Amino acid sequence: RWPEPTPREGRSRLIVLAGPTAVGKGTVAAEIKAHHPEILLSVSATTRAPRPGEVEGEHYFFVSDAEFDRLVAEGELLEHATVHNRHRYGTPRAPIDAALAAGRTVLLEIDLQGARQVRAAEPSATLVFLLPPSWDELVQRLVGRGTEDDEERARRLRTAKKELAAQGEFDFHVVNDDVARAAAEIAALVR
Ligand code: 5GP
Repeated sequence: RWPEPTPREGRSRLIVLAGPTAVGKGTVAAEIKAHHPEILLSVSATTRAPRPGEVEGEHYFFVSDAEFDRLVAEGELLEHATVHNRHRYGTPRAPIDAALAAGRTVLLEIDLQGARQVRAAEPSATLVFLLPPSWDELVQRLVGRGTEDDEERARRLRTAKKELAAQGEFDFHVVNDDVARAAAEIAALVR
């Protein structure tokens, strides 16, 4: 376990939740939002196709490559990255600026590259790393989800190894063995 650093003075209301593929970031973020509707859960733009059940503007803004290029060129993204060497993802800046200006807490569910960019842009941001109970459990969850083919799964597990190796860069480490508990632990960091 990594030591837990003392929260910074005047803690930031910009929270980044990162962690390896299939660790349950989306589920934990949804649980936080269900209990804390005052927290803005940022909706990212992505060039990947929607999965069954995903809703435009709720899970992601699904955009073309050309539209993503435009968002980058016009500086509309707080951070952006190509994830798993494949699709592009980015955080729209305007809703976050508006929410922070209104005194709200903002939660970003993004990858390691994005977390690093947010830290560089906003050093007071709080970085939370969500951990699986074990590597085997992570593999089980990815297989069980059944939304990726073998090649995509292998790609995601390679990224996961790199992400786990970088967890020391984060301020807090939360194990997702129980969604409700993990969500409560993260919410407690920001309240
Ligand atoms: P998925 O395709 O499974 O929805 O997401 C793949 C990865 O992209 C996840 O690790 C997720 O955290 C990351 N991701 C989602 N939105 C963003 C974003 O706006 N920026 C960055 N850097 N990563 C994101």
